[in-house]
Amino acid sequence: MTRSLTILGATGSIGRSTADVVLAHRDEFRVEAVVGGRNALALAEVARRLGARFAALADEGGAATLQQALSGTGIESGAGQSAVLEAVEREADIILAAISGTAGLVPTYAALKPGRRIALANKESLVCAGDAFMTDARRLNVEIMPVDSEHNALEHALAAGLNRDVEKAVITASGGPFRTWSRQRISSASAKEASAHPVWSMGSKINIDSATLMNKGLELIEAHHLFGLGAERLDVLVHPEAIVHGLVQWTDGAVTAGLALPDMKVPIANALRGDRRLRMELPRLDLAAIGRLSFERPDDDRFPCLALAKAALRAGGAIPTVLNAANEIAVEAYMAGSIGFYDIPETVERVCSTFSGRQISTPATVAEALAIDREARQTACRLIPAPVEA
Ligand code: NDP
Ligand code: MG
Repeated sequence: MTRSLTILGATGSIGRSTADVVLAHRDEFRVEAVVGGRNALALAEVARRLGARFAALADEGGAATLQQALSGTGIESGAGQSAVLEAVEREADIILAAISGTAGLVPTYAALKPGRRIALANKESLVCAGDAFMTDARRLNVEIMPVDSEHNALEHALAAGLNRDVEKAVITASGGPFRTWSRQRISSASAKEASAHPVWSMGSKINIDSATLMNKGLELIEAHHLFGLGAERLDVLVHPEAIVHGLVQWTDGAVTAGLALPDMKVPIANALRGDRRLRMELPRLDLAAIGRLSFERPDDDRFPCLALAKAALRAGGAIPTVLNAANEIAVEAYMAGSIGFYDIPETVERVCSTFSGRQISTPATVAEALAIDREARQTACRLIPAPVEA
């Protein structure tokens, strides 16, 4: 049976990989709508390639360009937040949520409709408003399938036993471009150097998060919400080959792991289909050719963001929301050249400590989470020298 699919963030790195999976399985999926941010021409192109019925651009200023690029195709289009929301309201069995950053929260949350599947890449939605999001997903009987490779691996590894028998669930990190660099050398690294990821090809924000290891910290919080595991049962291992993505250690000492070559099309295909494996014409994992897999503990001294995220997960309340917001502002400032690499954790830590004395409870609704997010962004902007808009 063909399933209808809407892709949020269709022009991004995950969006493009999703288009490849869909085009390889035209009999499985029909694309209802595609959503992009600012790039009208790229959105029009992906809409045409996929034969989508509707294309929505978040940036209202791109409306005319989008409409013109789609003229004669029969594909409807719209621009602005209302068009984005129209896209998620349209009938679709599956929503692939891959807008980058907290900007993805409102459309992803609006996509929660009874009986749907959400293939979730946008981890920031869960870090910002995980309790509210997951509560409503359960209430509405929405199946959340993780696209993030580590969580996709854990989803399957965890199915090998009962949640209560999990001693530890471990996600791996490739270690990013600075894994072997000294702290001193990292301190003067440019955003360009931080974006040169050794394994994965990804969008700009997640690239910087991978260099600071904040990405792994956000993923710990994501895993907490997806699988209902507390901080004491979640851990990170650095694994430069990026073959083992997630491991579950059981109470009897056995370990179940999820392995694959590092290609996001693998977890995307799995999250889209859900109930069975699609045939993917991709290179196969050849462990004998790889020969050796290595693992290290993460270094909190050179990569303090991971420890900050672990502390935020343990603290709970509003702190994960604050951490995520402060990190987004700091990463933007670092990419703009306004601050140095270690000013990212410095800013995050200072903003978190401003909020930690206030004992704000866990946001129970998305509106509450967004209010905390806004305030944390403003606090972060005040700490950053150059003008960065909240
Ligand atoms: P990219 O930056 O490559 O793509 C982001 C997408 O979101 C683009 O289509 C962009 O449109 C769109 N977008 C940005 N802002 C808005 C907005 N306000 N409204 C609507 N659309 C918007 O990011 P990635 O694909 O790398 O990452 C997407 C998400 O997936 C992130 O949350 C990331 O953490 C997660 N993820 C990514 C992985 C990867 O390998 N890349 C792995 C695991 C998770 P435009 O191009 O027009 O700006
Ligand atoms: Mg990941």
